Amino acid sequence: MDELTHKQLGWLHAALEQRRHLLLDQVALATAGPAVEDVETSPADSASNRTMNQLQQETASHQLTQLLAIKHALAKFSDGAYGSCENCGSGIGYSRLQARPEATLCIACQTQSERRPR
Ligand SMILES: [Zn+2]
Repeated sequence: MDELTHKQLGWLHAALEQRRHLLLDQVALATAGPAVEDVETSPADSASNRTMNQLQQETASHQLTQLLAIKHALAKFSDGAYGSCENCGSGIGYSRLQARPEATLCIACQTQSERRPR
């Protein structure tokens, strides 16, 4: 009952591809776009600019992490592993995948891994 239908898999694959393209665009923009520090500012603004640059970097690294997760998820379509929890092997569930197509764990394992201190 947790098996995904062909149609659902197609939808999720398309959603992942869409996200991948979106992230690639954002990463390209973040690395190619004008840096915040190039904008002329008063000394009082430099503190907030530093924060902005830091934020930009954090966003960029978050985007790269997302991108890797999406690539990982897309790769699983070819070997039929997509939609199965990487920890316990049970179905992740379509509603969860709709919200997070790149999810690798079922909700139970995800909750457990978030509780476990790294
Ligand atoms: Zn699981």
